[in-house]
Amino acid sequence: MMVTPGLAQVVRRLFVLFLAVMCLLVAAVAPQASYRALLGTNVASGSTPISQTPASQGRAAPAIPRPHYRMAIAVDYEKAFLNVTQAVEFTNPGPVTLSSLVFHVAPAAFNAFTLSSATDFDVAVQPVQDGTILEIPLSQALPPGAATTVTLRWWGKLPVSNGRYGAADGVLLLTDWYPILAVLQDGVWERHQYTSIGDAFFEDVADYDVTVTAPPTVTIATGGTQVSRNDGQWVLHAENARDFAMGISSHFQTLSRKVDNVTVTVFYYGDRTEAAKASLDVAEQAMRWYGRHIGPYPFPALSIVQAPPGGEHTAQEHTGLFTLRSDIFTPAAVPIYVAHELAHAWFFASVGNDQIRQPWMDEGLVDSVSLDFFKETYPREFPAVWGTWGGSWDDFKDTLPMNRGIFDFNNGSVYFFTVYRQGAAFFAAVREAMGDQAYWKALQTYYQQYAFKIARPQDLLRTLRQAAPQADLLSIFRRFFDYPFLKYANLDLSIGGNDGQIWQGPVAVPISVSADSPTCTVSVFLDGEPITTTNHAVTITIDTASLRDGQHVIVARADDAGLNQVEVRRAFQVQQPTPTPLPTATPTATAIPAPSPTATPSLTPQATPVAPAPATAVPPETGGKVIGGLILAALVLGGIGLTLRWRARLR
Ligand SMILES: [Zn+2]
Repeated sequence: MMVTPGLAQVVRRLFVLFLAVMCLLVAAVAPQASYRALLGTNVASGSTPISQTPASQGRAAPAIPRPHYRMAIAVDYEKAFLNVTQAVEFTNPGPVTLSSLVFHVAPAAFNAFTLSSATDFDVAVQPVQDGTILEIPLSQALPPGAATTVTLRWWGKLPVSNGRYGAADGVLLLTDWYPILAVLQDGVWERHQYTSIGDAFFEDVADYDVTVTAPPTVTIATGGTQVSRNDGQWVLHAENARDFAMGISSHFQTLSRKVDNVTVTVFYYGDRTEAAKASLDVAEQAMRWYGRHIGPYPFPALSIVQAPPGGEHTAQEHTGLFTLRSDIFTPAAVPIYVAHELAHAWFFASVGNDQIRQPWMDEGLVDSVSLDFFKETYPREFPAVWGTWGGSWDDFKDTLPMNRGIFDFNNGSVYFFTVYRQGAAFFAAVREAMGDQAYWKALQTYYQQYAFKIARPQDLLRTLRQAAPQADLLSIFRRFFDYPFLKYANLDLSIGGNDGQIWQGPVAVPISVSADSPTCTVSVFLDGEPITTTNHAVTITIDTASLRDGQHVIVARADDAGLNQVEVRRAFQVQQPTPTPLPTATPTATAIPAPSPTATPSLTPQATPVAPAPATAVPPETGGKVIGGLILAALVLGGIGLTLRWRARLR
């Protein structure tokens, strides 16, 4: 007698477990099967409406702080001599562990850089210098996400000005004048030597805190902002700066104007007030014009610095500052130079590009937009300016493709013709094909999307193409460039199903991709969390049982590393099944006496495994739920009868 009640309980528990498993199977299998059928129909018939939007940036990676330069500079103004302590805080953005930091040191090309010591976290290390590339081995390996501080102590005497760097006329141009971190691309440092053709400068943005000690009689022009000035000591600051430039002179006079929230200051000398006024006027006009057409000027201030005469470079852009050599610093000449150099604030300082290998991305585009501004603002002077800076389609029949780097040229004039003037012809052709409105909208998108980042050629070309899908831009691209990725025009991506469906249980979701390019990656996200990355069609299974009630979104992004990025979304609803009370009287249940609650406690509604949710408006899922409900009811009732029979036999 002591055994039988225990046996009865064991049997009851086994039976309840069996019921639970069966109910879960019913709930899981029915909606999945019906959803697969639904997808098959829709995808095969091609009737699935796919909401396709321009690809957005991937999810924000965990924030890696920008590099931070803390510099103390002692300036011997009379001797043009600098003594510098430069600490650089750097966090490894990954993806690989680093054993060294690499800097580019343009002044080494002018014998204006001598390193006296280098430390990593206060541990002395032995730098390796190869021309203008300076490699600082780290005292310890630096894994992704880890930070270090490298401190360089160095000195140098500025060379005679070449028009954009050096000293003459009592003006010191500290421009591309210090060791600046190379760009880390997929864990590999980009390395290049300095060359005088083009701009051999390629940098990520960083933050700067700079203290300058100099004679109190000098005036300092900076691309950042002045935090304080006190008896020969200046404290300067810049954020999101691609470089940090200064002009120092005891001869400088200044003219200043506020353009909205931006302070524009011209630093000039030698009775050039008229040129300074003209520069200020053009800067204001151009800043407003670019602001309307592309987006707001990206920095709090702008310094325009008159550079000494002589040397091979006429003008040079930096972050928040540009230089104009004295012989072009005249009221007649400054308009196009100011228009050009100022446009680099948008395309170079804010949106970065590889200026070594893809200089057309800033020079060609800046040439084009500054001519557009000039044509509208100075129509009388425009033809002469066009003759120097502009170009037409037919001028470039026998010219190199535009995607050539600075090391592909040994002649500055050929470089200017191929990259600048051909750029004007290219962007004019693109604008004509797209229409003005779509063209400027595309540049606005490009500016917003890549501000303070480094854009690749395909990013700019893709943005143009996405803004005017109906225009045949590909033939224009192929006329001016020979990028391999221009062969691959098409990329299609779709997610099965329709928006707004109610999903329950595990749901199979097919993702189809069709790409011309052999290199295509598809990344799939559920509510922003990555699920999988693949390069072919795939069916993913979403277990909705683990999701909260309400709307969820699957996003798939395909990227062929070239012209194409496609993003598609599928929104669906989750409505978790709610427990339903057991039926008290149904036709099939009449023959079986209802059990007393105390006799079968494990079959109370609270303990019964959840039944599928009430039928919804989606027919196949409704069918699945109805069938599931019927099977459940039959199992429950059958189970009750079985239990009662067991109980009867045990008695
Ligand atoms: Zn330029």
